[in-house]
Amino acid sequence: MNAMRDLSAYISTRAHAVDASGIRKVFDLAAKLKDPINLSIGLPDFDVPEVVKQAAIDSIHAGQNRYTQTQGIAPLRERLHRDLSAEMGRDVGEVLITSGVSGGLLLAMLAMINPGDEVVYLDPYFVAYKHILTVTGGKGVAVDSYPDFRFHADRVEKAITPRTKALLLNSPSNPTGIVMTQAEVDAAVSLAKKYDLVIISDEIYEPFLYTANHGADRGKLPSPARLYDRTIILRGFSKSHAMTGWRLGYAVGPAEIISQMAKLQQYTFVCAPAPLQYAAVAALDVNMDAEVAKYRDKRDIIFNGLAKKFEMVQPDGAFYVFPKVPAGTTATDFVTAAIEKNVLIIPGNVFSARDTHFRISYATTDEKLRQGVEILNSLV
Ligand code: PMP
Repeated sequence: MNAMRDLSAYISTRAHAVDASGIRKVFDLAAKLKDPINLSIGLPDFDVPEVVKQAAIDSIHAGQNRYTQTQGIAPLRERLHRDLSAEMGRDVGEVLITSGVSGGLLLAMLAMINPGDEVVYLDPYFVAYKHILTVTGGKGVAVDSYPDFRFHADRVEKAITPRTKALLLNSPSNPTGIVMTQAEVDAAVSLAKKYDLVIISDEIYEPFLYTANHGADRGKLPSPARLYDRTIILRGFSKSHAMTGWRLGYAVGPAEIISQMAKLQQYTFVCAPAPLQYAAVAALDVNMDAEVAKYRDKRDIIFNGLAKKFEMVQPDGAFYVFPKVPAGTTATDFVTAAIEKNVLIIPGNVFSARDTHFRISYATTDEKLRQGVEILNSLV
């Protein structure tokens, strides 16, 4: 009888190439904690609005349980097309409902990236970018944005090569909470035009804007989509309505690209969850301003609480802060010490080539935030 191969021999080089050890280590440590002060979570601490839950239940009872069209249900697509076109001041193109923004990111790369094609984004970055590019055969080129985490057009320009196909922007940013200014967006669009690049704009944290997104100012995120029609906007419901488990996002942009993404969705995800797409229409009518205002207060608790002991850039959006660890230590060591004191945070090297900062998510109760602040300060 043949000796059978070791099971690892069945694993593709593609899967082997994805190294997720950094974040796994944190979760392994975290699993041992009892009632930790968990400042590591990437989703809001409020629940899905009641009317939206009811809409989901109603749509299940009404029999909306079958496949939808791959591109998503018409009422949701039409509503998003209308809202986004009004926000961007132009016809934003086609709308594809995806399985979360993660689904949109993967489909965008599958639709555009040939082996060796490069996509430029800032370091620190949302962890999945690197891995999605590895999986799709492309190359993520991360441009250092320390110490202010701003979009430095000169640095970005140096990273562009003839293989660069897209600029991947994330504002408000995970893990820094930085929101690109209009001038930065203008600079990014100029580079995209100069070097013939598509902009993929990950705007999943768009509702969480603390300077310009309230009341009458709603919708004032400086988005490249206002100025540049070769922008793919990626937004979703995971953060805005705390529906991370519902897997609903959308990709909006030029028909030539979105239709290719839809074709690829047809043979992979097939469609986003049907009953939840109907509930998402209801979600668009729920005003989340009060929740966002609470998050602005949480930002202040954490930022003001740590400002004396930690070097930080004040975040204007999302629900993260990215402080520098004290001199003479690495982020990994600092995070290990914090976890020993029951505070769960994520070391910078999960999001970056550097291991000098750590990510705090302030998506938790004010009480836990205050406890966390006290313990983190005691570690300096
Ligand atoms: N982009 C960014 C920047 C994120 O932080 C996340 C979730 N943490 C996603 C995309 C993916 O979100 P989802 O797939 O739940 O829509």
